Amino acid sequence: MCNTLIATWRMALEGMTEVASETNLHQSVIRAVMNVENNPLYHSVGYGGLPNIDGEVELDAAFMDGDTLDYGAVGAVRYLKNPILAAWALSRYQRSNVLAGEGALTFAIQNGLALRDNRHPLAHNKWLLARQQKRDKERQEAYDGHDTVCVLGASPGGSVCAGVSTSGLFLKRAGRLGDSPLIGSGCYADSASGAAAATGVGEDIMKGCLSWEIVRQMATLSPQLACENVVRQHTATLRQRKGECGSISVIALNQAGQWGAATNKETFSFVVNEPDKGPQVWLAHCRDQQHSLEIASECWLVDYLAGVSAGTGN
Ligand code: ASP
Repeated sequence: MCNTLIATWRMALEGMTEVASETNLHQSVIRAVMNVENNPLYHSVGYGGLPNIDGEVELDAAFMDGDTLDYGAVGAVRYLKNPILAAWALSRYQRSNVLAGEGALTFAIQNGLALRDNRHPLAHNKWLLARQQKRDKERQEAYDGHDTVCVLGASPGGSVCAGVSTSGLFLKRAGRLGDSPLIGSGCYADSASGAAAATGVGEDIMKGCLSWEIVRQMATLSPQLACENVVRQHTATLRQRKGECGSISVIALNQAGQWGAATNKETFSFVVNEPDKGPQVWLAHCRDQQHSLEIASECWLVDYLAGVSAGTGN
């Protein structure tokens, strides 16, 4: 029997379709992430990812094995074709599991991982345009509204794992790490409970270690309730303490293959691949502080593809 998978954003659909019949749990998650890393039309992950303030594409990725709690991550790494492969490889070691910048690149080269110049003309042009619009580099803030691909998997035997990959916020400072490579923030997996992952403004996600908190709550709550609780509480906390909270969306999958998703945005798309159903695109909403889910309509799916062709969607 196949694995149950859930992934952030509609951009994961092609990868989820590619791995629908893959039985190896780690392979299904890693290959689904790689599919997005390799697609230059998606501007927030891997090849074609939107650059940092200096025009460089710096990537973050992480992998966690819920059986062993093994964890590996790379941060702010350039010229790596598939950062998720480096994260997975690092998770197999006992020490030095999280590497950033030059160290991460050296590790990848020593391990024979493929390199690539991830700067794509489409993303470079967006960077040029943004720089022209705001010439004062110091006053330019990293843009919100970015997307990380996060894939969670649960095997029929009750093992879970998580993989995430992102180019981080557009126009971020060089060397900036988001939530994605930070254990418990961008993702967490524990086969005793389940796996969770987050996308949105990393600086706000990491303040609540949201993935770890969802996995902790899933020990007693359904994935859906855990996701809604954590997004609602953390958003309220940041609004109360700081006056604002960036966009946050989360997904979760327990070891029985039940899943959940929640957002503090109007709409967040995600993809679910259940063994007998195949990949389906869903939408999570937050309206008037009420959370809801629906299957994406044909109309929504067509509009989405039009946005990607026009270079405005992800
Ligand atoms: N969480 C990512 C970051 O802050 C971006 C995103 O998922 O939108 O780097």
